[in-house]
Amino acid sequence: MNIRIDLLTVDEAQERILRAIRPLDALVASLDQALGLVLAQDVVAGHDNPPFDNSAMDGYACRASDIAEATRERPVMLAVAAEIVAGAEPLKLLAPGTAARIMTGAPVPAGADVVVPFEETDEGAAKSGVVGIRVPRPAQSNVRRKGEDFSTGELLLSAGTRIGPSQIALLAALGLPEIAAVRRPRVGVLTTGNEVVVPGQSLKPGQIWDSNGPAIAALIEQTGAIPVRLGIARDNAIEMRQWLGDAQAAGLDLLITSGGVSAGDYDLVKDVLRASGAIEFWSVRIKPGKPLAFGLLDGLPLIGLPGNPVAGMVAFLQFARPTLMKMLGRTELFLPKIEARLLDRIENRGGRRNFVRVCVEQTSDGWTASSTGAQGSAQLSTMAQANGLLIIPEAIAVAEAGMRFQVQMPDWEMG
Ligand code: AMP
Ligand code: MG
Repeated sequence: MNIRIDLLTVDEAQERILRAIRPLDALVASLDQALGLVLAQDVVAGHDNPPFDNSAMDGYACRASDIAEATRERPVMLAVAAEIVAGAEPLKLLAPGTAARIMTGAPVPAGADVVVPFEETDEGAAKSGVVGIRVPRPAQSNVRRKGEDFSTGELLLSAGTRIGPSQIALLAALGLPEIAAVRRPRVGVLTTGNEVVVPGQSLKPGQIWDSNGPAIAALIEQTGAIPVRLGIARDNAIEMRQWLGDAQAAGLDLLITSGGVSAGDYDLVKDVLRASGAIEFWSVRIKPGKPLAFGLLDGLPLIGLPGNPVAGMVAFLQFARPTLMKMLGRTELFLPKIEARLLDRIENRGGRRNFVRVCVEQTSDGWTASSTGAQGSAQLSTMAQANGLLIIPEAIAVAEAGMRFQVQMPDWEMG
């Protein structure tokens, strides 16, 4: 069967895929389940935080005007009118000329406008019921004002924000036990190839272990989505049709296949995919990762990654990851990038956007990037040593040492 293969740039391929993808629906998640999810709602403060003026130190609450003349030699003596612990009900009023012994987080009584830490008093030295203040302090010292963190009506978090530990802390501080978040996409992973065997099984001559299945599942999980391992399909039309049927019945939001999409292959996978839905086969101007399939299988989006292990991972990061980010409702779809000075000379003939495995390092002179070695599309050892993918643009045929390039940082989390 003749299959049309479209030539696309990386940007065109991304655009075509993202155009077909919509954010998933929201669900209500408890704070315990919220880590890594994306907010589906804006969060507005329902109250002031802190809800009342409270002490930032353990010490004595008093009036700043009462202690203006205090010195180490001539402490100002104040009668201790009360002791206030955290959680105590606020005291009505602190009379002039008196102090309240107060703990961190306890409500500062009306009338008091300063907390003097124990170290600046002669607590214990003077007679009981009286404290000597040895240092003057301006009003508001060591007082956390009501609403100084945030106040009622303030927009604190926007829809599209990824929920990390700090966001969970803020939601809890708002008194919210649950939140509307976009549900995690369920992503099927279907590996193909007669030669591919599950790690743990012994290899017969001509076979290799499946590295793509575990790699793609891990990449999916890293985005916050849920990988659903479907197994390994042989390059056989009947089996492939069965697998695709299973995938469609599995309640998936996206199906990712590995292998069988290369331009020159005699490969039944392509025929079956093409016959099963609106699937296109592309030759993307990217290195590694040129062959790519995308389309809808009766409404189920499918991304067909190339079988070569590094090509598959790089293509995942450029095409499948933004797809999942969009499904997850994230505002930023693409990998975080830094700019680094390349330390090697790298040829880039052929007009493709080249993603070079590099090790980036922070030096006194900014970031540097050095190639981790041979860049073959099946060479996983240099992929495992890399912490970044340096992007050589299509128009640059030779990247000289000393030139500056953008580097994607696939393992960096971002907001
Ligand atoms: P394909 O895209 O199916 O033509 O495969 C291209 C290359 O990637 C071949 O050398 C395959 O043996 C290899 N390959 C395909 N699938 C996998 C896999 N799951 N794990 C490791 N290598 C694979
Ligand atoms: Mg194959």
